[in-house]
Amino acid sequence: MAQKSNCTRDVAARFDGGSAHPPTAAWKREFRRRLLAWFGEHARDLPWRRSRDPYRVWISEIMLQQTQAATVEPYFRRFLRQFPSLRALAAAPEEQVLLAWEGLGYYRRARQLHRAARMIVEEHRGRFPRDAAAVRTLPGIGRYTAGAIASIAFDAREAIVEANTVRLFSRLLAYAGDTGQAAAQRLFWEFAEQLLPASGAGRFNQALMELGSLVCVPREPHCGRCPVAALCPTHRDGLEQVIPRAASRPPVTSVREAALVVRRRGRVLLARRDQAPRWAGLWDFPRFELDGPCDDEQFDLAEQLHSLTGVVARPAGLLATLKHSVTRFRITLDCHLADYVSSGRAPEGTELKWTRPGELESYPLSATGRRLSRLLD
Ligand code: SF4
Repeated sequence: MAQKSNCTRDVAARFDGGSAHPPTAAWKREFRRRLLAWFGEHARDLPWRRSRDPYRVWISEIMLQQTQAATVEPYFRRFLRQFPSLRALAAAPEEQVLLAWEGLGYYRRARQLHRAARMIVEEHRGRFPRDAAAVRTLPGIGRYTAGAIASIAFDAREAIVEANTVRLFSRLLAYAGDTGQAAAQRLFWEFAEQLLPASGAGRFNQALMELGSLVCVPREPHCGRCPVAALCPTHRDGLEQVIPRAASRPPVTSVREAALVVRRRGRVLLARRDQAPRWAGLWDFPRFELDGPCDDEQFDLAEQLHSLTGVVARPAGLLATLKHSVTRFRITLDCHLADYVSSGRAPEGTELKWTRPGELESYPLSATGRRLSRLLD
């Protein structure tokens, strides 16, 4: 169990002499009052906040995982135009859902969203389940997302803990340990549950996240305009720069890859592979990792293309080099042109398609695949 914070205890003591964790009744009352008053004045007008329809809340919560609100906004609007209801999403082919998701990354989210929509239609008669435990049985929904949907859409008294609230809670608890540890996570969930008001949990949870994302920001929190500064031990002790403790990041790894644009009578080759879980469902130009400098690059490219697709082609020069980052990988992608010679059988689990460059817009492509496709116009 994480240690109780002396700093927080001191702050709480100003209200009724209670201990820090769990927070005293007076501390919680004051915290809620200040937070909700601030939210009333400063809440952003985000498109998913205009309705409590669980379908809209769910789509926004999935899109917002690992993605900033400003990036999500146009995607959310487009997605809702294209799939205005849960049934419309369930009825759509997966490829169409992936195409609508293209550019948001983490495509697993889109595939799980689609699977969950089909499950809701089949197992819940198309009605979004109200209970957080039932919501958690759906693909792609963990404890946080279930709590967010149940509280925002149905006003269930469910707590939430996510990146913004972890930072905020660390500072409110003056918690200087590693926030990724199981003991810290338990402490934050416990704190989140204790803070919840008797009613209005959805609005309260949104206010917590809003404060974390607009005011209690990672590097230079805006304590001067924070509504709960008087309750915050981290601010009182000037420790905003050291709490929460910076997570140790895995080292960056450089990777060199090659992609081939194989041309055959005005068409180019696309491949889709089951064995590439990150890209499952997406089309791409045949692409592979390069082990290192090679004596005969042309031969190496042709060999790798053949083992990946069964297609024989003659490399015909470098088209472009694209730089791209995915999590801790910095990828340098050399894009080569190649001319079709012949083809054999594609390996099991690999689907191939010859398409005109002008039709590439209708296929869901990886981010670099899309950049490369635009070089062919
Ligand atoms: Fe965060 Fe500063 Fe507010 Fe404390 S006072 S909660 S550190 S913004």
